[in-house]
Amino acid sequence: MGDKGCIRNLGIIAHIDHGKTTLIDSLLTGAGLLSQSMAGTVRVLDYLEEEQKRKITIKTANISLLYRNHVINLVDTPGHVDFTGKVTRALRAIDGTVVVVDAVEEVMAQTEVVLRQALEERVRPVLFINKVDRLITELQLDAEQIMRKLQHIIDRFNDLVELHADEEFRDTWKVAPTKDSVTFGSALNGWGFTLNMARSASMKFDDIVEAYQTQRFEQLRTKLPVYDAIFAMAIACLPNPREAQAYRVEKIWNGNVNSYVGQALAHCRDDAPAIMCVTKVQTDTDGGTVASGRLFSGVVKKGDVLHLVEAQSETRVNHVFVQMSAFKEEVEKVSAGNIAVLAVAGSVKVGETLVESAHKADVAPFEIVSAVSEPVVTVAVEPKNPKDLPVLLETLNALTVEDSDLSVKVDAETGEYLLNGMGELHLEIALKQLGSRAKVVSSSPRVVYREAVTTKGKAVLSKSPNKQNAFGIQVEPLPENTASIDNGNVISVDEYHNLLVDHTGKTESLDEETLEYVISGFEFACRAGPLCGEPLRHVKACLMNLLPSVNAELCGGFEITRAVSKAVFGSFLTANPILLEPVYKTIVSVPWELARECQRIITRRRGKVSGFEQRGLQAVIVGFVPVAESFGLSLELRSSTSGRAFWQSSFDCWKRMPEKLETKVIEEIRRRKGLPSELPKPETFVEENR
Ligand code: GDP
Repeated sequence: MGDKGCIRNLGIIAHIDHGKTTLIDSLLTGAGLLSQSMAGTVRVLDYLEEEQKRKITIKTANISLLYRNHVINLVDTPGHVDFTGKVTRALRAIDGTVVVVDAVEEVMAQTEVVLRQALEERVRPVLFINKVDRLITELQLDAEQIMRKLQHIIDRFNDLVELHADEEFRDTWKVAPTKDSVTFGSALNGWGFTLNMARSASMKFDDIVEAYQTQRFEQLRTKLPVYDAIFAMAIACLPNPREAQAYRVEKIWNGNVNSYVGQALAHCRDDAPAIMCVTKVQTDTDGGTVASGRLFSGVVKKGDVLHLVEAQSETRVNHVFVQMSAFKEEVEKVSAGNIAVLAVAGSVKVGETLVESAHKADVAPFEIVSAVSEPVVTVAVEPKNPKDLPVLLETLNALTVEDSDLSVKVDAETGEYLLNGMGELHLEIALKQLGSRAKVVSSSPRVVYREAVTTKGKAVLSKSPNKQNAFGIQVEPLPENTASIDNGNVISVDEYHNLLVDHTGKTESLDEETLEYVISGFEFACRAGPLCGEPLRHVKACLMNLLPSVNAELCGGFEITRAVSKAVFGSFLTANPILLEPVYKTIVSVPWELARECQRIITRRRGKVSGFEQRGLQAVIVGFVPVAESFGLSLELRSSTSGRAFWQSSFDCWKRMPEKLETKVIEEIRRRKGLPSELPKPETFVEENR
């Protein structure tokens, strides 16, 4: 681990079902972590039962392997777009990636998504064409036809490199059998080879075909073990951390590369401040925090005090580990260029930058991975036994630390605890994890909506209950592109992109405490709107009037908060309010003959198909489906195509609900939340003024 030339930080990425997990099993077998007979049946990286079932690797487990004097840090990356946030974080820790492509299915939508992400992070790819056995046994191709198909996959792959790699890497990073950057094989049957390996073993494609025809393919595993091919390819073609950091740091780190620290990072130096980018956080069995990630410079030892750049706090390293499969091995220290696993005091968030305390002033954070998704599906959870509420809250908190795409909120109307996630499947898995740690009951998944306005509302003056305060507020819709807004007099922006703006010119004369109550009144209104208690979105609330006697001490903060939120509601209801629903972009890849059926499934669910493309024998359909109609979509696509469709859904936008449905949905939500069935009238919020 100290010899930089002998380290490879490697990830494996693939479209779902192309064989990533099976390949990882074979690699672990090769490194002696799994016995030959277990490979393919026990999935060491799949700690969770549900992963077994769904064949989706959820956890990004980082495993260090020793192979021919090289340390291979294998960072597992999940392959489902519900968890794309996690893939991107894992990419930060690796310098190279093996992209697994199914020889029959070829390059698919998800291959493209993850390969693009890797190239954007300057992670160098090599190619593993898997399931070559299917070309022989299922498609019954001869050696020449096989080679043509494989060449086609390589060409498609290189098209993507040409499209998405930075210009300086476009040529060198293209893969070719002659460069030994392509492995052909069958992870399931345990064999694989690069061109060089095949030559040394005097093997040709004809021999592989024959081995299958004569049922002797088991021998291929011994002659051409797939792990040898993959590890040899990684060692020969992928960069070590010193080589990689020289060109990656400028791309993934926010600081000045020419500074002392910048140079330490770019040269992957041990004799420099310890700087680590945390890509994964877990809670240990004893409740402690385990943060793992890439150490870009310096050395980390037990007892070190590290500074958290984002959180602006300190933590102590209680133990330093290297992760060996499901087990952690305690070590004295970890040096630059490796993946370190640290047991630390207090909490650390994924994406955090850790730096040796003495150098905290010099270090900029690693670029924040931009989260494009919004948690648009939610479930209400409660403990089976009310006295277990503290355990539930603690566990929910731990889950959101481990997976920053999850969030927990308390429903303002019902007091329910809501667990929000990216999609149905994401939440289903989170609930299972929750269930294994605490006894809970949960609702079925629900869609999260937003309330918005379409026109400028009336200016509404609302007095506080004791009549000592009055606030005039007028709301209007904010344009989508908030960058164009003059924010000179913005008092507050809330988490749902609503703005509180001062039009009185008097807020500066308010004392700090009073202003805080005004802001919390605005935020309170934005958290649960008057239509059905869903958050407001893109609403601009202008403060038009302030009663001069406003004073928190005289009136009590609660009075101010109440009056402001009532004025926001009153004006909101006169501004032609609407309900917005979240919409997924769904990309389906399916054999051509099944494309029409998939298109019908999308349109039946109020979806719109916006693109239809033929790629070889596959059709790629791009559609937009309201999240409310997406529940059960996976099952339907799978069953109506006998499992031959591949798809991915990700949040795309908020869209106005069709009018007829809008009324129905608002009624349903109001009923569920125990709100009166009648919508409130604007006058309700200004009655003290009359
Ligand atoms: P992942 O979703 O990418 O992790 O894919 P898995 O490793 O779970 O594999 C998906 C399916 O393909 C499983 O049923 C595997 O047994 C099968 N599979 C994986 N590799 C091969 C292979 O080389 N040949 C064949 N015929 N099937 C394979």
